[in-house]
Amino acid sequence: MRILVVEDEKKIASFIKRGLKEEGYAVDVAYDGEEGYRLICENDYDVILLDLMLPKLDGLTLCRQIRQEKIQTPIIMLTAKSAVADKVTGLDAGANDYLTKPFAFEELLARIRVLLRTAGQPATKLQVADLTLDLLTHTVTRAGTEIPLSAKEFALLEYLMRNAGTVVTRTMIYEHVWDIDFDTSTNVIDVYINYLRNKIDAGHEKKLIHTVRGRGYMLKD
Ligand code: CA
Repeated sequence: MRILVVEDEKKIASFIKRGLKEEGYAVDVAYDGEEGYRLICENDYDVILLDLMLPKLDGLTLCRQIRQEKIQTPIIMLTAKSAVADKVTGLDAGANDYLTKPFAFEELLARIRVLLRTAGQPATKLQVADLTLDLLTHTVTRAGTEIPLSAKEFALLEYLMRNAGTVVTRTMIYEHVWDIDFDTSTNVIDVYINYLRNKIDAGHEKKLIHTVRGRGYMLKD
């Protein structure tokens, strides 16, 4: 899943980016409100972490602006302020959640998982047929057998499982699994789909990953 961090304090931004990447998220960073706005308009993020005090365009104004434009991406406000009035203002501006700096990274991860929660599934686990993906332990099992995956394979499988039963195009995949540096001219997505097929479906009579000719891929029971 792909996350945008809008944070002008470079140290905090790189700390958050590194931590999220270690968890398998694709992460872009914007260092001021205007850059954040531009990236939000250009890309389809799954979650936005938004600092309140930002140069050029503050977090509250940015939040109101994108909600006015009907962009419904979940937003977590990050701020040094902890006053109740500020939290209320942030939530009223359209933020989904609120985290006061400094925060424990585990808490940030837990709140992101809640916002990404797929309907009908717990926030920490995804299940399709006999395939289970555990977001806490980063383990994948099929029919009870653990399948080792690389971080990118895990991220791709997570995206396919969150969208189980619907067609995902290559464009959707690179927008949600890779970050802004992704080279769209390569066939890396097909390569990774093949890696996943070999690990998830090989040796099983029932295949879960399907090619939808001319459109993309679908994971389904
Ligand atoms: Ca700031």
